[in-house]
Amino acid sequence: MKVNEIFFSLQGEGKWTGLPNVFIRTAGCNLRCSYCDTKYAYFNGKEMRVDDILKKIRNYPCKYLCITGGEPLLQKDIHELIEKAGGINIAQVAGEGYPTLTLEEVIAANPQVIIANVEEYEGGDISFQFIFDEPRLGGLDALVNGRVYGINADLTNQPIPRIVDGLELMAKMIHPELFGSVE
Ligand code: SF4
Repeated sequence: MKVNEIFFSLQGEGKWTGLPNVFIRTAGCNLRCSYCDTKYAYFNGKEMRVDDILKKIRNYPCKYLCITGGEPLLQKDIHELIEKAGGINIAQVAGEGYPTLTLEEVIAANPQVIIANVEEYEGGDISFQFIFDEPRLGGLDALVNGRVYGINADLTNQPIPRIVDGLELMAKMIHPELFGSVE
């Protein structure tokens, strides 16, 4: 798996706050959270064998391990790592990482509505703009019918209470006849 860094520190979040932890930061992330403080992990990292990672983390004098990112679920052997570290990967049934479609698959599917994340930082609308800039997408029904929407990524990227706002907004984008149009 591709690892950005392995380090020893105090946990700063959640139930184990303040306790010594070994952190494995995986490399690579296809999300772009507006509050991200680990942009350096988007691309940089080196491939490491799971056994070598385990050898390294066993040298640290603590019993807590935190696998962070980047986006750890993008790593195809994350399940093996979690199991070998004595954990249970509750995301295993969801498959590996995030599904990715080729342009050809998108064109064949011909979506009626396209909703793309838009973030507040400079360049945070790159996915949204791509839909308009890519000539091969020009014939999609969603573009022809003016049904391409940008949505604030903060409303959709995390399973927290404000995701309900994102859900309402998306319902309006997909079914304006039922929920009213987006303002
Ligand atoms: S998931 Fe983590 S690494 Fe990826 S953009 Fe969000 S905060 Fe940054």
